[in-house]
Amino acid sequence: MPPKDFRDAIVTHLTYSLGKDPDHATVFDWRMALSFAVRDRIVDAWMASTRRTYAKDAKRVYYLSMEFLIGRLLEDGVINLGLEDEARRALEGFGLNFTDVVTDEPDAALGNGGLGRLAACFMESLSSLGCPAFGYGIRYEHGLFRQSFENGRQMEAPETWLQQPHPWEFERPEARFLLGFGGTATATGWTPAETVYAEAYDTPIVGWQGRWANTLRLWSGRAVDPFNLEKFNAGEFTAATEGEALARTISRVLYPEDSTEIGKALRIKQEYFFSAASVHDILRRFEAEHADLGLLPSKVAIQLNDTHPAIAGPELIRLLHDARGMDFDEAVRIAQGCLNYTNHTLLPEALESWDETLFGELLPRHLQIIDRVDAAHAKAHPKRKVSARGDGRVKMGELSFILANRVNGVSALHTGLMKTTVFKDLNSLHPEKIINETNGVTPRRWLHNCNPGLSALITDTIGDGWIGDLEQLEILVPHVDDAGWLERYAAVKTANKAALSDWVMDAHGLKLDPQAMFDVQIKRIHEYKRQHLNILETIALWQEMKDTPNADWTPRVKLFAGKAAPGYFFAKEIIHLINDAAAVINADKTTNDKLKVAFLPNYNVSMAERLIPASDLSEQISTAGKEASGTGNMKFALNGAPTVGTLDGANVEIRERVGAENFFLFGMTADEVEARRAIKNHAAKAVAADPRLKRAIDAVAKGVFSPGEKARYKGIVDNLTGPDYFLVTSDFTDYWRAQRDADAVFTDTAAWSKMAAMNTALSGWFSSDRTIRGYMADIWGAESLLEKDA
Ligand SMILES: *Cc1c(COP(=O)(O)O)cnc(C)c1O
Repeated sequence: MPPKDFRDAIVTHLTYSLGKDPDHATVFDWRMALSFAVRDRIVDAWMASTRRTYAKDAKRVYYLSMEFLIGRLLEDGVINLGLEDEARRALEGFGLNFTDVVTDEPDAALGNGGLGRLAACFMESLSSLGCPAFGYGIRYEHGLFRQSFENGRQMEAPETWLQQPHPWEFERPEARFLLGFGGTATATGWTPAETVYAEAYDTPIVGWQGRWANTLRLWSGRAVDPFNLEKFNAGEFTAATEGEALARTISRVLYPEDSTEIGKALRIKQEYFFSAASVHDILRRFEAEHADLGLLPSKVAIQLNDTHPAIAGPELIRLLHDARGMDFDEAVRIAQGCLNYTNHTLLPEALESWDETLFGELLPRHLQIIDRVDAAHAKAHPKRKVSARGDGRVKMGELSFILANRVNGVSALHTGLMKTTVFKDLNSLHPEKIINETNGVTPRRWLHNCNPGLSALITDTIGDGWIGDLEQLEILVPHVDDAGWLERYAAVKTANKAALSDWVMDAHGLKLDPQAMFDVQIKRIHEYKRQHLNILETIALWQEMKDTPNADWTPRVKLFAGKAAPGYFFAKEIIHLINDAAAVINADKTTNDKLKVAFLPNYNVSMAERLIPASDLSEQISTAGKEASGTGNMKFALNGAPTVGTLDGANVEIRERVGAENFFLFGMTADEVEARRAIKNHAAKAVAADPRLKRAIDAVAKGVFSPGEKARYKGIVDNLTGPDYFLVTSDFTDYWRAQRDADAVFTDTAAWSKMAAMNTALSGWFSSDRTIRGYMADIWGAESLLEKDA
């Protein structure tokens, strides 16, 4: 039994788990001791949750995701368990600062961006709501690469979160499954050529107030025959451990592509590896309690986070039919009763499809099963030709759709577009299948924990019920008209900006003016997200400031952060341009006090938690119709940063909720985008029509920001003045207008604060608790097992 007193618990772990004397312990030691002490308490909730789920024979939710972008866990755990005051006091008693200790934890960066962060928010909400659930993914040894800049260019280094011991996971050597690849298939079975073990590592995820904890189970690759003694004895030391090295390769690194399909053999192996291990585990758990496989859909809901785990469907059918002798059609029906699929993108380059030769070599039996499922579907719907197969490819979106009970989009706009574009034909055959579940973010991490000043003000005003029921923020609305309250609200933002400025000074040696508007765009670098629209506007603004330095400019700090996929050349050029432009602009004495630009390296969850509470303006400027939802947009709105944005993804719903008057809208709609793209020379026309835009592009083209290599940005310039598929030039003029509107409001501090506060008060709907309730009711048929409040 761990000590009841929390301080004793920490010291006990320091002494007996870490073998350290408090007098000689480092910050790392204290962090580990605190983590273990917190973990003990989480384990109590975890076991109680598991016992209750078994006792009730409740339906379980299985969330299969290639990515979980978790970030740090310690502070979340401390706060969700209500241990913050005790932890602070205990650490201070030993001369330590709480923040120093919790920020010593490395980020678990097992994801690329929005999709992986959504999975992490969902895990927290599932626990906060007491929904029995497992997250299933891969325990990557190396998460998303570390980014640095060398002369403005992105450099990538391996990420090493597991180099230090990871205090949150429990290794489960007994939970391992043997998985096959390659070999030959027959009509009833499969003889793989190679095999590998998937071994489980469990992390408990505790919900708000510690009332429930679910499991995040991540799979790691292990060799069947890790060590060849014969080879070792023959002096072949490397060859002796080759098996282990190969097996571990499967879970070695996260692919860094965001919104692009890669089509590599190792990727398909990773996808099958974690999907198959999860399905084996799900069936094992079910069969331990139930004899009748027909009950599976009433006890098991499987959610596929995008198509990466799509192979779970054919694997489930294989295990039911080949391994358990169930009739094939019945196996398909059972699988369809369990499976659901979330689509995350309409970008054609991101829709997964596999070359059938490669697929068949790795998973020959699954290819047969897919063909049979597809043929049956085609036979049942002879009028329309929709297929998961064709052109020599296996199309994972179509496959996931056909095998799903429900298919969902992630914002209202995106779901509507799914029905008219990618899944037009399938939707007409199955009009009830596609539904919408607009994304959300967990209010614990993304307001209460990351913005303690604002959290305290809100709680002081309306009590703390909002933390578990975010729509209570609406009660703040009348307070927004109280000048005194609004000043307190503004003071929180000012303090957050001052703290961020100190950090930017310390970490990057750049002086920011906390009085300036902090205008922030942080997300993956992608053409459709249009960081180049932002930097062009920045350049145009700088040029205009130089023209009339004494005019009444609203001082701005333009902050960028985000990683580009290592092979995404254009995105890397955009980063380079922003860094080059920042160097020139920041060095300009005439504009120095009005405009600063910084690209902060190595964007991750912890950086988002630092930047968002200190932001004034949220840049959500994607080409309309391209961003499925976005969740960064929600975090900013919640923390009182109004959006400058297009009618894209969840921006549409954010604007509806916070009010058009509290949102800086610009740009074409998704329909207008399509029409505009059809106009010949649309980019050249847009450039010719806007002298500001022309001057900014000319400066880039002439090498103003790359004097040593004048043609450095020829690629970007040619794209912008040529095809400009993402319509940067066509949206520029209205973007400039919206930015100047923002300038005008910002000079009126009270008006701006009111706008910011209304964003906080009216974005409670974007809690992932609301999203998960939607999935539970509309997709999973799952129920909360929380004891009702006494
Ligand atoms: C929220 C979040 C994202 C998603 O941001 P978008 O602006 O929606 O693309 C990506 N990365 C991190 C670290 C995040 O916290």
